[in-house]
Amino acid sequence: MVTGPSGAGKGTLIRRLVERRPDLEVAVSATTRGRRAGEGDGRHYHFLSDEEFRQRVEADEFLEHVAYVSGHRYGTLRSEVDRILGNGQGCVLELETVGARRVKELLPDTVTIFVAAPSFDELERRLRARATESTGEIGERLELARRQTAEAGDFDHVIVNDDVERAVAELEEVVGEALASPPSPAANAASG
Ligand code: 5GP
Repeated sequence: MVTGPSGAGKGTLIRRLVERRPDLEVAVSATTRGRRAGEGDGRHYHFLSDEEFRQRVEADEFLEHVAYVSGHRYGTLRSEVDRILGNGQGCVLELETVGARRVKELLPDTVTIFVAAPSFDELERRLRARATESTGEIGERLELARRQTAEAGDFDHVIVNDDVERAVAELEEVVGEALASPPSPAANAASG
């Protein structure tokens, strides 16, 4: 499971990881935030209305779910995790830190990897360059990133995304080691 602040590059590293490791698959989360240009429904996220999300929470369809900046909700669908593990694949989850802790509590064998930006200035630059959020929301994401970065040491591994090629290689190594010595079958969810 990969966590860390928004803008650190988790998504890019994960995409590169699964290109190299066909035995891994990323669980597609559900969210109530708006779709960004280039994002596909069911591919990057399952984009839900507030009401649909609420109904799925009530139906206990989420392994974990959180309210993130601007009140947008995000959650890991149990059906996604079950589908991936049922196919014999390793399941990769991308989560902010609250959800990551929750999954670790529920599935203690899960390997948690915190992806950090090389510096706070760089994180800010990346978030502003993406420019898909409003200025206010970028401010909220930055403030949250400060708090999340202070928690990096609570996760099993920290990877600094200073250079994408180097960081992907490190991620692949960490995941490879985790999958080579799984403590129990649940560890498949690990890399994830
Ligand atoms: P973004 O809006 O930039 O796609 O995502 C915002 C944050 O939500 C990111 O840190 C991302 O990793 C996190 N996130 C995405 N899906 C989930 C999820 O299913 N659960 C949790 N807890 N966080 C998620």
